[in-house]
Amino acid sequence: MKLLLALIFFSISRCVFAQQMHIGLLTEFDIKKLKINKAIGNYHVMTDSTYLGFANSTDIIDVIYVSPNKMTVNFQGNSYDNINNLFLYALFEEQSIQLTGISPGFNSRQYEGDFEISAGKSGVRVINNIDLEAYLEGVIESEAGSSQHYEYYKVQAIISRTYAKKNEGKHKLEGFQLCDKVHCQVYHNKRLNNPIIDSAVSNTGHQILSDKNDKYAPTFFSANCGGQTCNPSYIWKESIEGLTSFKDTFCVYSKQATWTKSIPYIDWVTFIVKKYNFPIDDSLSLQLLNNYKQDERQAFYIDPSYGIPLKELREKFKLKSTYFSVRKDGEYMVISGRGFGHGVGLCQEGAMKMARTNYTCNQIIKFYFPDYLISKIIYN
Ligand SMILES: [Zn+2]
Ligand SMILES: [Zn+2]
Repeated sequence: MKLLLALIFFSISRCVFAQQMHIGLLTEFDIKKLKINKAIGNYHVMTDSTYLGFANSTDIIDVIYVSPNKMTVNFQGNSYDNINNLFLYALFEEQSIQLTGISPGFNSRQYEGDFEISAGKSGVRVINNIDLEAYLEGVIESEAGSSQHYEYYKVQAIISRTYAKKNEGKHKLEGFQLCDKVHCQVYHNKRLNNPIIDSAVSNTGHQILSDKNDKYAPTFFSANCGGQTCNPSYIWKESIEGLTSFKDTFCVYSKQATWTKSIPYIDWVTFIVKKYNFPIDDSLSLQLLNNYKQDERQAFYIDPSYGIPLKELREKFKLKSTYFSVRKDGEYMVISGRGFGHGVGLCQEGAMKMARTNYTCNQIIKFYFPDYLISKIIYN
């Protein structure tokens, strides 16, 4: 017990000057069997009641889901049954360990920080307790890759730091703060490749975007706005102060600026008639349905009076954005779209292009968030 208390105290004291985040990892999987290995550094391994030992680079920990509150843990030749929680505490900062899916299988991911692994309702849950700044390094590489301009990484650092702080209650009911998916911010690894990312994070240390009342800015971002950012009310049914729709010429020639998709005509029409009671027998309405052009971003297909939100068509037919036009072509509806993602706030490909053409981090942020200020937060 003394050892356990000492370790907990050690873990708390190590983090006293840092801002700890609790991130749900591997949240897209329903994990039945997880392998933990290739520790870089030493990890204390313990359950609620028992200290199991040190894990180093040669150790493998197998975690097998049994039922809610029950896992089996295999470690150093021993098998431990009826485990509810398993904790891994890094002895020093910047240590990391690898998580690999055995069932279901998924590629190995390396993460820094401490881990709480528990038996959830239907699978193993993994929570990563990590310093905010180290978390950001992983997010930035996951979100932007490893070959961007330094000024872009600084932009993403400020945007992602603000997003993390503003949304730290988003998954409260699930026992962590943010998930590792695009729903929050993609976090698929610790930073692996580009060390410039570390410098971008530390050079913007503690910087966030806020309004005049020191409230965190709503720093939404998506891959490509298609040439016009989206009004938040088109996506979430309510406007957000300080975020409007405006033209963005920086992204229009980039990778994800345009796309097309063909959908069987019958599927398109059946969905719209059934769900929205579309007047298919009216020839004018049918003509409008078969040939819809969206030059400026809209919230509704054809006209608001038909009550068909573009957002719902995007979800149903898995379209890259809501910024699309449609044209009937034989048995198919051909969808020609612009951009990728919801299009609200920062356009990542536009901001990347700005950085490559020598705009500074501050100028890029001013362009996408003209109503907000860069300020510093002091962590408790
Ligand atoms: Zn989330
Ligand atoms: Zn854009």
